[in-house]
Amino acid sequence: MIEMPNPHIRLLDGDTINQIAAGEVVERPASIVKELIENAIDAKATTITVEISSNRKEVTRIRIIDDGCGIPTEEVSLAFSPHATSKIQTAEDLNTCRTLGFRGEALASIAAIAYVTMVTRSKGEDAGTHLIISGGEILENRATGAPTGTTLTVEEIFFTTPARRKFLKSLATELSRISSVIEVFSLLYPELTFRYLLNGQEKSTSHGTRTLGEVLRALRPDEAAQMIQVSGEENGISLEGYISHPELIRQNTQRILVAVNGRMIVSSRISGAIRSGYGTLIPSHSFPVAVLKINLDPARVDANIHPTKREIRISDEPEFLRFIVTRVKEALQGQDLSHSGISIKSELHLVADDQENQSPGLIYRTSETPAQRVCEATLAGYRTTARQLRRTRLLMEPTGAEEESLFPPLKYIGQVAATYLLASNSSGDLILIDQHAAHERIRYDQLKREQKEGTLSQELLVPIVLQLSTSEVHLLSEIRSDLEKEGFHLEPFGKDTWCVRSVPVVLGRCEDPDAIKEIISSALVGGQENRMSESVSRMVACRGAVKAGVILTPEQGEEIISQLSRTSEPYTCPHGRPTIISFTRSKLEELFRRR
Ligand code: ADP
Ligand code: MG
Repeated sequence: MIEMPNPHIRLLDGDTINQIAAGEVVERPASIVKELIENAIDAKATTITVEISSNRKEVTRIRIIDDGCGIPTEEVSLAFSPHATSKIQTAEDLNTCRTLGFRGEALASIAAIAYVTMVTRSKGEDAGTHLIISGGEILENRATGAPTGTTLTVEEIFFTTPARRKFLKSLATELSRISSVIEVFSLLYPELTFRYLLNGQEKSTSHGTRTLGEVLRALRPDEAAQMIQVSGEENGISLEGYISHPELIRQNTQRILVAVNGRMIVSSRISGAIRSGYGTLIPSHSFPVAVLKINLDPARVDANIHPTKREIRISDEPEFLRFIVTRVKEALQGQDLSHSGISIKSELHLVADDQENQSPGLIYRTSETPAQRVCEATLAGYRTTARQLRRTRLLMEPTGAEEESLFPPLKYIGQVAATYLLASNSSGDLILIDQHAAHERIRYDQLKREQKEGTLSQELLVPIVLQLSTSEVHLLSEIRSDLEKEGFHLEPFGKDTWCVRSVPVVLGRCEDPDAIKEIISSALVGGQENRMSESVSRMVACRGAVKAGVILTPEQGEEIISQLSRTSEPYTCPHGRPTIISFTRSKLEELFRRR
């Protein structure tokens, strides 16, 4: 029999409880900085100074100085007891609580794992208090002269919990976490002044009485130029902030900063809502940069589900998320979303999941091929392009949509590398358009329009026969109804054989059976994921779109531009790659040093 090491159940002593609790609240130096800044904000401070000292290996001292309300003499030692707070009295108060703290855990936790000195004077009192507490034990508590406000010094961090100390990352990592905590508070509270000193040297100061936009420009000047303002109010929810131009994207949600009622939170659902506001403007699996401040009735927010309060629950969340999606969409609408060419992020190209083989093709390599062949190939190219453009032109609605065109009329100049259309507008900006990406966007737009109108599919003159393996037959019968929703009608046609009877209108009366076979086999590989219909749409848009590497006549170039101008999101292809890159006239002047 295995003997249990310790069969008796006992209550833990106070010290042990505090250290366990401390582990949850103060994981690392940056979390101490966060808790203490929150306390200063709750104390209505207007200037908050963070002083950090370090040796070569670790943070040795954290000091936060605030000019807030201070703590009355007789309450100072109480503030360090677990669950001692001035911010709420009963659980009901949580419904109206607008302060960042309320659990009364931070000071007790910090005092349990470090050597803490507090000097504080409350507004109404003549003398202040000087208190030293270490490992949870008060070592000194005496009167002192002090300015109104509170100075908290934390040293010997994690001396009681050596294991945690060992798990800290390098000094550089810990310092960068601290500066990002300070940056976040500067953005969320632009009206407050934050000073940050590292080993006596001033690292950053935000000067208060500023707007979010001004702080953003001061802290991240490069990024700020690519940010779009977003705001809105509805049913007691208000939102303000900035979201990035689709050119500025990241592969994860780390640059999405969301604060609810002044508290920074982490929520994949909110990040997801911001992402979905972009639709096809950015590649799938990528996220914009954003800073969003959301305010709503505290009764709708439950911040009490995690010790660090980084996660929250919001009642009626679907309505809340819809509101965010709508506001993000609205903010992007009517913006010039063309990519600027100069600062284009290389990441964009890495993530593009376009299936089209973009090889320049026969025509492009003119020097390698006999003139005769080039000529014939070019003519064949013209004919194919004409057919492809006719199909998208016929489907374009003549609803006077030209007036809604998202960009001003462009004058076509010519084609470069058999792939890019060159144009200019009346302001003298130079515009480059990727002919394949543009036509893909046009086709995708039409497909969506057809789906909305229900004129989804057309019968093929000659059905396409598919030879399948047994497992493919099985898969196909599973995704058949999904494919039908996309306009593909398939029927069994003997053993292991199916035939495609009709296809989406935009694919035409089947010029290219291979394209259809390919779409269906990719759908089979993709299986029954819920985004299948979307990926089929994108594939349909891509197949049969004018290719890169095909020489166009001027009329054909003009036609692509005119069709593109009537789409709802002309600036990116359905995979989120840019379709239009513009070099503004002022940029050109700058490049030629005319200014
Ligand atoms: P909480 O913030 O959840 O109330 P803390 O342990 O962080 O818990 O702080 C305990 C109490 O100490 C607070 O409720 C507040 O009354 C007081 N306090 C802490 N820091 C400050 C400060 N910088 N200025 C004024 N009062 C403070
Ligand atoms: Mg607190």
